Amino acid sequence: LYGGWGVLNGIVTLGDLVMLSAFLLMLLSPLEALAQSVSQLQKSLAGLERILDLLDEPPELGAEKGTVRVRRQECEGRVTFDGVYFRYPGSEKFALHDFSLDVAAGETVAFVGPSGAGKTTVCNLLARFYDPTDGRLLLDGRDLRELDVTSYRRLVGIVEQDVFLFDGSVAANIAYGNRSTSLSEIRAAATIANADAFVLDLPQGYDTIIGERGVRLSGGQRQRLAMARAILADPWILILDEATSNLDTESERSLQCGLATWMGNRTCFVIAHRLSTIENADRIAVLNAGRIVELGTHEALMATEGEYREMVLLQTSAPISGTA
Ligand code: ADP
Repeated sequence: LYGGWGVLNGIVTLGDLVMLSAFLLMLLSPLEALAQSVSQLQKSLAGLERILDLLDEPPELGAEKGTVRVRRQECEGRVTFDGVYFRYPGSEKFALHDFSLDVAAGETVAFVGPSGAGKTTVCNLLARFYDPTDGRLLLDGRDLRELDVTSYRRLVGIVEQDVFLFDGSVAANIAYGNRSTSLSEIRAAATIANADAFVLDLPQGYDTIIGERGVRLSGGQRQRLAMARAILADPWILILDEATSNLDTESERSLQCGLATWMGNRTCFVIAHRLSTIENADRIAVLNAGRIVELGTHEALMATEGEYREMVLLQTSAPISGTA
């Protein structure tokens, strides 16, 4: 209005007015972007607050005074369950009863047994998500409670059935956000986990974005990435919780070949439903109602008329579903 008046009175030229209007129009979209940024910033700040809250959260098993940091170079990897009883907080029932098992450094022990037998609980104690209610769990003869939780957890790698992958590239998912990891290290881990070939087949190879906003992967592919992630973290004690349940027999076999060499003298605990995957374990522990009811090699257990033999015969007579 003022511009129009100005033009009429000769204070402003028509060209100036047109230019001014054009500039005002051009200003609109940056202003809109600015308004959006402010709302985005507010959302991000709310997120940041939640992250900071989480970071402030004390670890569920605090770093108690007088605990010792475990150094990888000094760790052999012998794990001993010494008369362990365990009850989940708030639960009346014991999930493990007088559970004793001595696992030598470098040994692979597989846990089998019906659902609710205590397999996951054993792994929860191994990962030190909980401490035994009674009895002791030892690493190289030392009670885990004497060890600093963070340094102990650094020695332990877990591959669970539900694989967690975040929105990001394949490489970032394997490196688990560690930017200092080189692509050749990532590829080496993926190769052991039998993932390298399928990753190279993805549209952008290791740069392919996966997760909710990216390429969808099959259950078997997700598990192989999780395995590569665990291998890259280079744990001394590995816990595989149904880790190969989503793989077809072919990929399972090649994964196991790669793993066998990599495992070397690392101690490994496996929970597997498919009994064919654990035939090569050094020892198999059959659990029932929180106790070890049978313990031995596949051959030894097959030679006795026990629960393991029965389970194997049941599985071989009825094919089970579930492939990658
Ligand atoms: P598995 O892995 O062999 O199927 P679990 O170790 O999960 O068996 O369970 C062993 C026992 O502990 C079961 O009786 C189960 O109900 C109980 N249990 C498992 N998780 C919890 C929990 N978070 N709280 C209370 N009881 C639990």
